[in-house]
Amino acid sequence: MPLHVLHVSSEVYPFSKTGGLADVLGALPLEQARLGHTVTVISPWYGELGGGAEPHRVAIVSVPGMFGEVEIGRLYQNGVTYLFVRMAGFESKQLYGFKNDVERFIFFAKAVPFAIAAMGLQPQILHAHDWATGLLPALIKFTPVPTTFQRVKMVYSIHNLQYQGRWNPWDVLSWTGLPSSLVHSEGLEFFGDVNMMKAGIVYADAVTTVSPTYAQEITTLAYGEKLEGVLKRVQRDGRLHGIINGIDLERWDPVTDAQAGFSDWQGKQAARARMQIELELDLQRPTVALVTRFAQQKGIDIAIEALGDLLERWNVVILGDGDLFSEKVLGLISRYAPHFAFYKGYNEDLAHQVYAGADAFLMPSRFEPCGLSQMISMRYGTLPIARDTGGLHDTISPEIGFLFPEASAPSLLEATDAAFDVWQDPTAWSKRVHAAMALDWSWESSANKYLELYQRLLA
Ligand code: ADP
Repeated sequence: MPLHVLHVSSEVYPFSKTGGLADVLGALPLEQARLGHTVTVISPWYGELGGGAEPHRVAIVSVPGMFGEVEIGRLYQNGVTYLFVRMAGFESKQLYGFKNDVERFIFFAKAVPFAIAAMGLQPQILHAHDWATGLLPALIKFTPVPTTFQRVKMVYSIHNLQYQGRWNPWDVLSWTGLPSSLVHSEGLEFFGDVNMMKAGIVYADAVTTVSPTYAQEITTLAYGEKLEGVLKRVQRDGRLHGIINGIDLERWDPVTDAQAGFSDWQGKQAARARMQIELELDLQRPTVALVTRFAQQKGIDIAIEALGDLLERWNVVILGDGDLFSEKVLGLISRYAPHFAFYKGYNEDLAHQVYAGADAFLMPSRFEPCGLSQMISMRYGTLPIARDTGGLHDTISPEIGFLFPEASAPSLLEATDAAFDVWQDPTAWSKRVHAAMALDWSWESSANKYLELYQRLLA
């Protein structure tokens, strides 16, 4: 039976993006539409939208409890209807980082049911993503919303548990109109605040996160970000699910990629040599690369700690930015250390070249809900060396990549040593490369898993 699914998110590629959340919203709805379902995606209408998008203005809506009116824009693309909500607080092209972020996204969430009703849409499933939309299930259950939403089933997806959206209960209750009786430890309350992520977890019909292992990990003290108690309860009730992300196979295609242009081991070797010459690396050594945000999560400090030992036998390429101290240290090391190339910043072309030209890809993550880089690198015949956690555990088999148990330099170095030993045997290494390149990271099977979940909720 074809469904009507409504996705609600603060980020949707290519219109708005700060991270992996946008990529999921850029791919999953398309795949669900391709599988024959009606899919609508609603997000804020930021001051400037990516991809040169100019939505058609289709409605003006007033939302109870909100000053001013809200304007709705619409685009129809690749079988999906995209709606954009233009409202006070979203004049800038910047997504987050304002003092009133929590207030901005609460008002966006409040506007969603009214915008959908004004468009005459009748979704059966409301799928909300991450902290910014976390209050929607509670708003739909406990505040007056259009009757369209009376029977809607609600799924809430956690893409990154670290960002939760907290604010004092007095403001949140006055902004939302939610009853104060919900502010208790089994409801909205969290260490004296209202927590939007917790609200999504408590009041949605089902909760998902982006890999089966991470779904398990977040019910533990080490990964739960203080929400492990509530997540454990949700898991016991059978409401917590882990569904792995896919990658965009057109954007990450080594055959058509100008920076790669290969489909086999020989082609990979040519791309490898090109990159090594261009980055002035040692052709006799294997190259290990990192392309990442410099954040505590990603373990850039662990890589820096291990760098001296790594440079004994490997070329090392690092592309990224973020933490200032890491940027400075790496900049300094790159001035003096041979076999090391460091590029500060975000650079898509260089990322493609590095995925294509490196032998191995390093991910010393402290936690990793899913991770896309390991899938991309395998598609490009670059073998991952990664911390055995979350989505990395679920996507990297030991026959192909190299997993290490601890988020520490010695543990990392054991894995890079193991990888180096295999690399010295070209037959063994090329067998892994071929196996890696043959893997299927399409969205189809994940999109079907979400659809099965929706069908179960509606049954
Ligand atoms: P995150 O937690 O940052 O979303 P993922 O592994 O899920 O981590 O996805 C990261 C994506 O961002 C990958 O496609 C990676 O290639 C890209 N990326 C990260 N840093 C950079 C950079 N400095 N330049 C280019 N691409 C980058």
